[in-house]
Amino acid sequence: MEPAVLPSSEADALRDSESRLRATEDALNLSREELKVRLNELHDVKAALDAHSIVAITDAAGLITSVNDKFCEISKFPREELLGQNHRLINSGHHPKEFFTEMWGTIAHGKVWHGEIKNRAKDGSFYWVETTIFPFLNKAGKPVQYVAIRTDITARKLADEQLVLMTRSLEEKNKELEAVVYVASHDLRSPLVNIQGFSRELALACNQIRAKLSGPGFDLLQNAGLATALTEDIPEAIGFILSGVSKMDRLLSGFLRFSRLGRAAMVIERLDMNQMLKGVVQTLEFQIKQTGTTLQIAELPDCLGDSIQINQVFSNLLDNAIKYRSGDRPCVIQVTGRTQGNLALYMVEDNGVGIAAAHQGKIFEIFHRLNPVEGSGEGLGLTIAQRILERHSGKIWVESTTGQGSKFFVSLPAPSLSHETT
Ligand code: ADP
Repeated sequence: MEPAVLPSSEADALRDSESRLRATEDALNLSREELKVRLNELHDVKAALDAHSIVAITDAAGLITSVNDKFCEISKFPREELLGQNHRLINSGHHPKEFFTEMWGTIAHGKVWHGEIKNRAKDGSFYWVETTIFPFLNKAGKPVQYVAIRTDITARKLADEQLVLMTRSLEEKNKELEAVVYVASHDLRSPLVNIQGFSRELALACNQIRAKLSGPGFDLLQNAGLATALTEDIPEAIGFILSGVSKMDRLLSGFLRFSRLGRAAMVIERLDMNQMLKGVVQTLEFQIKQTGTTLQIAELPDCLGDSIQINQVFSNLLDNAIKYRSGDRPCVIQVTGRTQGNLALYMVEDNGVGIAAAHQGKIFEIFHRLNPVEGSGEGLGLTIAQRILERHSGKIWVESTTGQGSKFFVSLPAPSLSHETT
């Protein structure tokens, strides 16, 4: 029998549909393979997520439908006690109601929520988790379930809390110390005034006795011991007492000035540092002329600060730059400044005697002077400058080379854009 021969158009159509069938089959096979790969990938991602994070899934009503091992581990609840419950089970009571209202408001509107939550475990202990809640939406855009991924941040939060407590206690201790220093230095000055007054009276009495004993009818020199006591020993002792008293008086008034600083109210405002430096230079005009100092002041950026206190800082820096000039060369002082991010940075540079590296950290200590016998000064200026800058969230530091000069740097908050407009 002759094989049936299809008309060529029908044969073409058959071939065409066969090849389309094969293509569909290939595509199907391929997508099955791909599906497998994708599923494996998903499985791996889930395993990695479970190994790293605390994961919980809740339904649209907020009831827990799934938790991973880490969730059970940290909350100390067995899985069966968690499923079907809502997160109130682990609510620590730390956050106000509005905190959770805002969270639900966000995720119920299909938005992702991030935040830090303090929870309570089954045994009553607390733990902190950094949380991301991701809502899964249906075609209508309504959330059908929420996946919450959390990381344990308890250690960091405890360290933060510790830091806050320590800072608070340090601030309190600082205040107490300042109060003690204030009371002590204030109260110690009155007995000092007595010692000073009575020592002077003693010196006067001693002079009178000496005059009387050397007068007619007395021959003081007859008694060598009495003569030495009255003309040398007693006046010398009184001299030591008086110089000790005046040193103590200087130290006490230094303490008083330092402790008053902590109480002084600050008025923080935008400071025109070009104007301020002009004022500082005016008050130092005499020393500048007398020492032949050359002062070069560049254009300075504004900063935020209390004008009286910042003036005190720069007066002290310029005063020191003149005081500690080198005898070998004319004194040249340069003041420059620039802004860097949200800071205003200033530099006071001199070509004076310089400070040895070993002393550079110490010059900010109270009453520290590198050369106590030389020149005037009580070793308090830089301590006060540092305290002032601390109160302004600023800093002061030094770079110096012995025999060449010093650079004192000051950083202060720079005015923000909102200050620019005012
Ligand atoms: P005072 O000047 O009253 O001694 P300060 O606290 O201002 O106190 O300075 C502390 C010490 O630091 C000074 O005694 C001095 O030895 C050193 N010092 C400060 N400024 C300079 C400077 N520009 N050059 C060299 N030494 C300085």
